[in-house]
Amino acid sequence: MFQKTAIVIGAGIVGLAATRALAVRGYRVTVIEREQRAVGASVRNFGMVWPIGQPDGIAYETAQLSRSLWKQICDDAGIWHEEAGSLHLAYGKDEWRVLEELSEIYRGRNYQLLNADAVLQRSPAVKSQKLIGALYSPEELIIDPREAIRKMPEWLSAKFDVQFSWGKAVTHVEHPVVRSGNESWNADEIYVCTGADFETLYPELYAAQPITKCKLQMLRIEPQTNNWRIGPSLCAGLSLLHYQAFKAAPSLTILKRRMEAQYPDHIKWGIHVMVSQNGAGELTVGDSHEYGLTHDPFDKAFINDLILDYLQQFARFKNNLITETWNGIYPKLTNGETHLVLRPGAGVTIINGLGGAGMTMSLGLCERLIDAG
Ligand SMILES: Cc1cc2nc3c(=O)[nH]c(=O)nc-3n(C[C@H](O)[C@H](O)[C@H](O)COP(=O)(O)OP(=O)(O)OC[C@H]3O[C@@H](n4cnc5c(N)ncnc54)[C@H](O)[C@@H]3O)c2cc1C
Repeated sequence: MFQKTAIVIGAGIVGLAATRALAVRGYRVTVIEREQRAVGASVRNFGMVWPIGQPDGIAYETAQLSRSLWKQICDDAGIWHEEAGSLHLAYGKDEWRVLEELSEIYRGRNYQLLNADAVLQRSPAVKSQKLIGALYSPEELIIDPREAIRKMPEWLSAKFDVQFSWGKAVTHVEHPVVRSGNESWNADEIYVCTGADFETLYPELYAAQPITKCKLQMLRIEPQTNNWRIGPSLCAGLSLLHYQAFKAAPSLTILKRRMEAQYPDHIKWGIHVMVSQNGAGELTVGDSHEYGLTHDPFDKAFINDLILDYLQQFARFKNNLITETWNGIYPKLTNGETHLVLRPGAGVTIINGLGGAGMTMSLGLCERLIDAG
C-alpha cells in the first residue's frame, strides 16, 4: 500500500512531537537535524511538564494531553519520570491571598491549599520560617530533558522505523524537496521545527512575525546524598507573576506591586525561581528572561546570584555544590499567543514559538494539529 512520507526538520521536542504524531498516523518519517544530537532549548530546560501554568480551555487541555502522552512515551521507552506535582509556596499574606483565589478559580482542577505543616510533610526542602502555606497540585510531571530528548529518537526509530539524519543543516525547502549541501530528500509533508533559528529557513516569514528570542540562565546542584528527594517541584511568590494561568487572580496586581518594590532587580531580569529534581538526585534551578533577537553568549554571574538569593528564601538542600551553569534560548511570541503555526505553501508546516512551555505543550499541540490535518 502507498505510504505517505514526511520530513521533520529539527530534533528538539517540537520536531520529536511532530514526528510521533505523524508516525502513529502511518507516515514514514525522516528527521533531519543540524547537530549530531539535539542541543537546543529542549535539553536545557527543567523538564517540567507544567499544566498548572496554563489557563482553562484549550491550553490546559493541550497540556493535559501532553502530560498523558509523556507518560505513555516514558513508560514505553524506559525514560525516567516522576509524577512529582508542584508546590507554589506563600510566605507573605499577599501571596497566600493569590493562592486562595487560584484554588477557587481552578476548583475544577485537583489543587489543594495546604497549611505550613502539611507543606512540610510534602517536602523536606521547604523552609519553614514564616511559611504560611502552599498551593499543591499533583499534576506536574518531571522528566530529565537530557535523557528524554536523547532516548526519544531511539524509541521513534525502534517503534516506528523513523529515520534520523544527524549533522545536516537544511538550507532549502521547496516542496516536495528539502536540501542540505548536495543532499536532498523528498516527502509529501514537510514540518519545519527549527526553534530559535529564524535566519536559515523562511527568514522573510519570521521577520514578519511578532516573535523574538528569550535567553534564560540556569544552574545545576550536585546530586543529593542518600536518595534525599525534594518531593514536588518548588517555586514561590515570583513565579505567581510569571504564568498566564495565575493572571486570573484579582489580587495578583497587589502582589506584583509589592514584588516590584521589593525585588526590582529580579523583576528587571525576568527572574522567577523554580527547582526540580531529576532521577539522579540533581537539582535544576532557574531562571531569568532576557529578550532580543541576538543575545551575547556569556552568562551574568549576578543573575545567578539573584536566582540563588531568592531560592534560599524558600528552599534548602542537603548538598549545595553548583556543578553546572548554562543558558538556553527559546522563541517567544510577543502578541501573547501560545504558538505559531504557518503554512508557507502546500505541504509545508512551520511549528514554533512555544516559549517557556514547549516541554509542556508540544506533544499535545502536535497531536491536535496533525489530527486536524
Ligand atoms: C532554560 C529553559 C528552561 C525551560 N523550562 C521549561 C520547562 O521546564 N517546561 C517547559 O514546558 N518548557 C520549558 N522551556 C521551553 C522549552 O524548552 C522550549 O519551548 C522547547 O524546548 C522548544 O523546542 P524546539 O524543538 O522548538 O526547539 P529546540 O529544542 O531548540 O530544537 C530546534 C532544533 O532544530 C534544529 N535546527 C535548527 N535549524 C535547523 C536547520 N536549518 N536544519 C536542521 N536542523 C535545524 C536545532 O539544531 C535544534 O536541535 C524552557 C526553555 C529553556 C531555554
